[in-house]
Amino acid sequence: MTVKREPIEQQISKKQDEYIEMLFQLLRQPSISSEDIGVRECATLLKELMCQSGINAQVIDTEGHPIVFGEVYSSNSDFTLLIYGHYDVQPAEPVDEWLSPPFEPEIREGKIFARGAGDNKGQLMAQVLAVKTMLDLYGELPVNVKMVFDGEEENTSKNFEPFVLKYRELLKADLVYTSDGPLDSSGAPIVMLGCRGMLYLELTAEGAERDNHSGNKGGIVPNPAWKLIHLLHSMCAPDGMVKISGFYDQVRQPTAKELKQITKLPYDSVETARAFGLKTLAMDGSTYYRKLSLEPTFNISGLTSGYGGEGVKTIIPSKAKVKLDIRLAADQNPDDIYTLVKQHVEMHAPDVRIRCLGKVKPSRTSLSLDTVQRVIASVKTAYNQEPIVMLASGATFPDYVFTQTLGIPSVLVPYANADENNHAPNENMDVVCFFQGIKTTCQVLVDLGKIR
Ligand SMILES: [Zn+2]
Repeated sequence: MTVKREPIEQQISKKQDEYIEMLFQLLRQPSISSEDIGVRECATLLKELMCQSGINAQVIDTEGHPIVFGEVYSSNSDFTLLIYGHYDVQPAEPVDEWLSPPFEPEIREGKIFARGAGDNKGQLMAQVLAVKTMLDLYGELPVNVKMVFDGEEENTSKNFEPFVLKYRELLKADLVYTSDGPLDSSGAPIVMLGCRGMLYLELTAEGAERDNHSGNKGGIVPNPAWKLIHLLHSMCAPDGMVKISGFYDQVRQPTAKELKQITKLPYDSVETARAFGLKTLAMDGSTYYRKLSLEPTFNISGLTSGYGGEGVKTIIPSKAKVKLDIRLAADQNPDDIYTLVKQHVEMHAPDVRIRCLGKVKPSRTSLSLDTVQRVIASVKTAYNQEPIVMLASGATFPDYVFTQTLGIPSVLVPYANADENNHAPNENMDVVCFFQGIKTTCQVLVDLGKIR
């Protein structure tokens, strides 16, 4: 099928009012997953909007909130794009800080205000309406499209991996495409190829049964705070290098191409320091992105023991506790890292208790893949601007469900404006960003259709 850009853009501008109204219908339906408000009703409505757009859609039950699945087959290509998004939203509190009611969408100064406008209903509807645009114009798509819309992304997505395992065949695809989160604050588009994983641990050291007088019993009763500090000292050097044996063994080594990509990313050390609340940041851009995207961390996120209040209290505490969030680089397996940390503790402080409070695997999709290069080119064409290609987000989200559980490469291309206020009062999406999102999805479908 031959597809040109102009008729697509004309079709989108012709349908502007209808598309906004379809989005507004979805925004008017609350779908707060953590409070179980309106989620199923929203799933049914989304299914209807997808069917109206020519997508063969269904609501599929899980142990929690349902998932909305849709598909459109194409006779033009064997390629299948799997689009992920979520139709649930965060609670609207504090409601009195909203300038218009959170579930009564309104356009002011070029922005659509409503809970879910940016995160993620506006971005998800941009995908749905891209499919509608192409089907209305051409009667078919350049590639097969599947859509999977989660109903509890804002509440840990705990039933998503079981769903994916159960419907592995249904979800078969060549590439996963997600639009969530904001564009760069400069307005530049972003293509993200993965994220770090996380292992969350708690270590507890115990001394005497109760706190003791540090004079009467000082030098006799052992101090668990010191025990924990000595243990932590054996785990990580002052420069951040982790000293636990085998910790770095699995870390994927960056390719020359990836290292080169990092040097192209925008970086301003003064601006970054200001944004982080630091006085200075003595680091070049390559180091900054290498540390953030490609390397693990060993972070102390909480450390508690003894007396921390005003003035003086002379005690030997009975207990000390540390919480660690270890961000994992590509190919580090949280179970293996947990075993290594446990072995280290057993060797250095066998009576310190260790508990795993959470784990998420890292995820990375290769920059070298032809499909990834095509998406980068599509985004550049659609925005008429070079996208910022991030090898991985420093943060953690369950992208591994696609790349590891299903074994499908995955890219994230955010469509919302940088000031979308997601999770906050007056959440919004720029009208321009919404329509740009529809155009971008169309461009991606067209370009992926050229794969033979
Ligand atoms: Zn969110």
